Amino acid sequence: MTMLSRDELERLSPAEEAAFPSPVPTQVVSSDEFFPIPQTEKQKRVEARLKVLGDENARRNGLSRRGFFKTAAGMATAFAAMNEVFGPLYDVGRAEAASVDVAQARAQGLAGQFIMDVHTHFLRDDTRLMNFVRARENVGKAGWNPALVGNAQTIDDLKYPNWFKEIFLDSDTKVALISGSGSEEPRDWFLTNEMKHAARARVNRDAGTRRCLAHAIVMPGMPGWLDEVDRVIVELKPDSWKGYTVGDNTNKPLSRHPWRMDDEKLLYPFYEKILKAGHTIVCVHKGLYPPSTERNFPHLVPYAKVDDVGRAAKDWPEINFVIYHSAYRWAAGGNAADGLRQFEETGRVEWTSDLAEIPEKFGVSNVYGDLGQIFAQTTVVEPRLCAALMGMLVKGLGADHVIWGTDAVWTGAPQWQIEALRRLEIPEDMQRKHGFAPLGAADGPVKTAIFGANSATMYKYDIRRAGLETDRVTALKADYDGAGPGRSNLRYGYVVKG
Ligand SMILES: [Zn+2]
Repeated sequence: MTMLSRDELERLSPAEEAAFPSPVPTQVVSSDEFFPIPQTEKQKRVEARLKVLGDENARRNGLSRRGFFKTAAGMATAFAAMNEVFGPLYDVGRAEAASVDVAQARAQGLAGQFIMDVHTHFLRDDTRLMNFVRARENVGKAGWNPALVGNAQTIDDLKYPNWFKEIFLDSDTKVALISGSGSEEPRDWFLTNEMKHAARARVNRDAGTRRCLAHAIVMPGMPGWLDEVDRVIVELKPDSWKGYTVGDNTNKPLSRHPWRMDDEKLLYPFYEKILKAGHTIVCVHKGLYPPSTERNFPHLVPYAKVDDVGRAAKDWPEINFVIYHSAYRWAAGGNAADGLRQFEETGRVEWTSDLAEIPEKFGVSNVYGDLGQIFAQTTVVEPRLCAALMGMLVKGLGADHVIWGTDAVWTGAPQWQIEALRRLEIPEDMQRKHGFAPLGAADGPVKTAIFGANSATMYKYDIRRAGLETDRVTALKADYDGAGPGRSNLRYGYVVKG
């Protein structure tokens, strides 16, 4: 297999075993420049319960607790522990948590599910965005992943080889889109548009199939930006475009070019240009702007909201506008508890509720919500908030307009997020009170649409003719699964040799 070079493989080696390698994080993980919030009281209770249940079930299966947590039954046990603390939000049977064989059969039954993750990241080899490393060190210090503690070179875990491993080998993801972020400072782009293009070519060449898609980042208002669009259309042929209305999200103090999606003078020539080239997907980062960020950069708040989405969508019905993070405000240093309080007091959550109301208000059907961070930052911390957000997005945008994205690998391999959505259900009291429809079975129509069918339609991806079942990634994953003792539970399961 030549998916990774000898040099890259050499640098990947199994991590030291973690002190508590929980199947799902019992602590929220940071993303971008943000630090993880401290473990909540409820998460502490989940962790304590998980240790007890883990010991019981491990003994029953003749395994160590550590070994048990690497099995599908260990994952099921984690959701059972969460149900005990948060209420019955996750579909998990007793037999599944208690028996490795029962759980393995279920996991294998779902492993072939078509999962298309249109929101993934890695960083360029010469990145100097060490704040990501600081964030990872804090994740280690906070205790949920001790493998990160004292490991100074973990920036390598945010680069291509580990991205490939965590997406395609450690998870059931079938197709991934490489995203990115631009900056006023050229060196601080996560990846240049050329790099995203080259990585897509590499994956697809190695796989022999179309496993990988790529964004091109656009920075409206920067000098020469429309010429760059012309060049990218011809030379790089991106699968879709992505922009940040707050301008430079990575270096907010430098941000001098924020923009509105409905700015006729600035943006409409761009929409016209890409439509002429046959491109119909524009992804826009919104939300992730808690009060702590607002205090430092108050002038960018209007751009983080979704006030500009409705009119742009109405004026450009041929373009699909995918709002990344579904404009969820309470991540990136915010707190899911604040989001839950807001929901319980008002029935709304900033600014996801505003997004969900756009189709009705503007009479449009070309607005979509991506689940990057909004799902990860709520599902293990406040699963009731997660259920509420899913309910309002499906109700307002439609089940065919909610899009699977995980923002991996900022939060490690996405398998725990996949497992969580497969099992999550909206509590009946919440369904009744807010008119939310149930999400249904892991392979039912709603979740099948969200996990991949919606993006497949949007990207004109022919699942049945893609040939994924017999390509070289499938062969590599079979080897990988066969070699190991089961799923790696370390969110950064392979670390660079020290
Ligand atoms: Zn992202």
